[in-house]
Amino acid sequence: MRPRPGPPLAVVGEVGTPAGEPEIFLHLEAIETIVDSLPGQAHLEVGGLLVGRECEDDAGIYLLIAGAVPARQAESTSVSITFTHQTWNQLSTEKASRYPDQAIVGWYHTHPGLGVFLSERDLFIHRNFFADTSHVAVVVDPTEFAWAIFYWQESDLVAAPGCYIYGELTGKYQRLSELLPRYQATAT
Ligand SMILES: [Zn+2]
Repeated sequence: MRPRPGPPLAVVGEVGTPAGEPEIFLHLEAIETIVDSLPGQAHLEVGGLLVGRECEDDAGIYLLIAGAVPARQAESTSVSITFTHQTWNQLSTEKASRYPDQAIVGWYHTHPGLGVFLSERDLFIHRNFFADTSHVAVVVDPTEFAWAIFYWQESDLVAAPGCYIYGELTGKYQRLSELLPRYQATAT
């Protein structure tokens, strides 16, 4: 595999079986932000934006998911999350200050105890707000720590078979050993 992303970042692992196009690279910081938004909210759906960049080199198209921005004012229940006008304002303000050089590449949300899939409502949200072919959706069931990344393949949103994990080698991401092995290449 080509060394992408390049130094000072490096691929530190993989989940599932990365294949297909685009290849997906998920930064440890994005995973950590998602995990940190779970405690205390485990029974409610939480979510937010994913930021990063779609890139291309002579090996093909790849997607760098560099970070996550949690929604702090979403209206959530145990089975749904609604990004209100205020939610979008907060997300775009925080994205602009924390990740000014990154683009929005998708969104994430949780399914407490429900499993990892995209509901009809999720598909509606994705088709209407994340319609770019590079946009992905991360779904996490925090009760199992099961998760998957859904991406566009032709006109369908399917679970990516896997992704590469990248970041700086600082050793500060201990909690991720819980989450990383639970990647579900086949959605429930
Ligand atoms: Zn959902």
